[in-house]
Amino acid sequence: MKPATKFIHAGAEPDPSTGAIMTPIYQTSTYVQEAPGKNKGYEYARSQNPTRKALEDALAVIENGKYGLAFSSGVAATDAVLKLLAPGDEVVTGNDLYGGTYRLFTKVFEKFGIRFKYVDMTDLAAIASAITPNTKLIWTETPTNPLMNITDIGAVTALAKQHQVLVCVDNTFASPYLQNPLDFGADIVMHSSTKYLGGHSDVIQGALVMNDTALRDQLYFIQKSCGAVPGPMDCFLVLRGIKTLHVRMQRHCENGEKVAGFLRQHPKVGKVYWCGFEDHPGYAVAKKQMRGFGGMMSFTLKDDSVETAMKVLSSTKIFSLAESLGGVESLINHPASMTHASIPREERIKNGLSDSLIRLSVGIEDLEDLVLDLEQAIG
Ligand SMILES: *Cc1c(COP(=O)(O)O)cnc(C)c1O
Repeated sequence: MKPATKFIHAGAEPDPSTGAIMTPIYQTSTYVQEAPGKNKGYEYARSQNPTRKALEDALAVIENGKYGLAFSSGVAATDAVLKLLAPGDEVVTGNDLYGGTYRLFTKVFEKFGIRFKYVDMTDLAAIASAITPNTKLIWTETPTNPLMNITDIGAVTALAKQHQVLVCVDNTFASPYLQNPLDFGADIVMHSSTKYLGGHSDVIQGALVMNDTALRDQLYFIQKSCGAVPGPMDCFLVLRGIKTLHVRMQRHCENGEKVAGFLRQHPKVGKVYWCGFEDHPGYAVAKKQMRGFGGMMSFTLKDDSVETAMKVLSSTKIFSLAESLGGVESLINHPASMTHASIPREERIKNGLSDSLIRLSVGIEDLEDLVLDLEQAIG
């Protein structure tokens, strides 16, 4: 099935009780049983809900996986994966992780005896040398936030398989339209559905997709035991978002390419980080594992100061100053003072996050309006 058909029909079955083409929002906490244990497969809504099931089936289809699980946020999905581990287990992960993931690892799971090794995930030798007999999981994002670094998913999973280590890929930035990590051997795909899957900045949600039945059973057990499940209304919103993911992503990619090109030739702009540029260090790998390069990018200003960046940030009229990404509307933010403010300046600069670095989530508005907005803001 081609993407456009898949994204619209994924998981969609007419509602068995009425024939409704859209899965209804089953706003219920429990289900009446004929006799104890004699029921229609639904007992209690933390364990099963038909709206959530329709979404979970759709998630599996769009990520080329067998099983989908929906969570009440992206970090709740990450939390569930980490709960597969036990004290003493080690995780090898990237040194430029999403801030919320880094916080969950360091502030919550380290306390329970899980150990994390942060390496450059574009460096296969660094990953290999971080693996020990205690390593149970490799956690990676690609492209990363905000510098758009690219991990070679196929190479990392091949390495992990030699050591019987699970690989989970946070696929939030690419979305399933541009990249399917399971096709390259990953064991689990994670999403913040809050971003491109929902696509309209109106819901917080997370997702996991996998192929292995035993792994699915373990993660389902964690989902129902720990209880970070999304409500049926939120599942409906993400299901609805998925139906237009392909058209939205096509426009995000088109606008992204043009905005990146505009920034690159601007005399006041320093470096532009977008993985579709042929001289981006991850370009060859991105081209191999992605179907397009998306609308996420960052850039620095030649006058590399917080003040100059602030001037740009406060001058845009269409790009809204906000955290998050992946919605239809364009967003702009300043990692140094927003998403990465908790990292000491020296370390931040060492990792390439300079003072003037600005991140864009290019939306699907009219391209000319977006370029004009940036033009007047950069001055
Ligand atoms: C937003 C985000 C998350 C966390 O998801 P929430 O839905 O905010 O809990 C995880 N990873 C990436 C890459 C994100 O952008």
